[in-house]
Amino acid sequence: RIAQMAERGDGSPPKRGPRIIAVGSGKGGVGKSTVSANIAVALARMGVKVGLVDADIYGPSQPRLMASEGERPQAKDKKLIPVGTRYGVPMLSMGHLAEPGQAIAWRGPMAGNALAQLIDAEWGDVDTLVVDLPPGTGDVQLTMIQRFKPDGAVIVSTPQDLALMDATRAIGLFDKAGVPVIGVVENMAGYVCPHCGEESDPFGSGGAEAAAKTMGYDFLGRIPLTIDIRTDSDAGRPPAAGEGPVADRFADIARQVAE
Ligand code: ADP
Repeated sequence: RIAQMAERGDGSPPKRGPRIIAVGSGKGGVGKSTVSANIAVALARMGVKVGLVDADIYGPSQPRLMASEGERPQAKDKKLIPVGTRYGVPMLSMGHLAEPGQAIAWRGPMAGNALAQLIDAEWGDVDTLVVDLPPGTGDVQLTMIQRFKPDGAVIVSTPQDLALMDATRAIGLFDKAGVPVIGVVENMAGYVCPHCGEESDPFGSGGAEAAAKTMGYDFLGRIPLTIDIRTDSDAGRPPAAGEGPVADRFADIARQVAE
């Protein structure tokens, strides 16, 4: 899809800079950051030159997810130089711009300018940027859409979230602005018991897929709720960098994003 979007030119000169894939969600805590990090890592494993931008001003979690906490990006000619990670994904986070543990009271214009600094950075040969947006539909999303016109958007939702309209608003924001919605990822779909492997559905399962299809959007895949995903993520080891069913699911989602 990225390739199709890039090709869908209208004769105007090609846009400079990396293609931008925005990752959004209707509300916080649905796993948007986790999914963003793992899509980026899975794309890198496929050989895509991918960078990761953490634009979540309310809770920048990418430095922890990607094990780059405490790194400070250097600057060259007033442009930030992304921080390298052990997963082959250079990245920049709002969290890298603040002192650790310091809460930032971003106001609208400040947040927009900070986002611009992260995106207009020295990305080198990166050709695809995965941007982890804050949840909802606020200033950062508007700046993102107006100033940087993403090439596509991925929406992360829990099983009931889409049906409950939370994620629908986020999708509507991109849709109205003409940003192609690549599809929906259902996260925390089914709980896999670490002891017996039995799968149960605390939040239900399949709700996001059904709602996405009703609305005419593609469904990219489903990630279960597992203890391992949380503990590995907290330890800075994105599951997509490992082996197993969860890594395979992220690889499959990344393939659809890259198509
Ligand atoms: P968001 O970016 O939407 O606020 P996060 O990615 O920060 O959400 O995830 C919120 C919490 O849920 C984190 O502790 C994360 O490790 C955990 N989490 C996310 N997805 C899963 C999953 N599929 N299984 C288990 N824990 C998850």
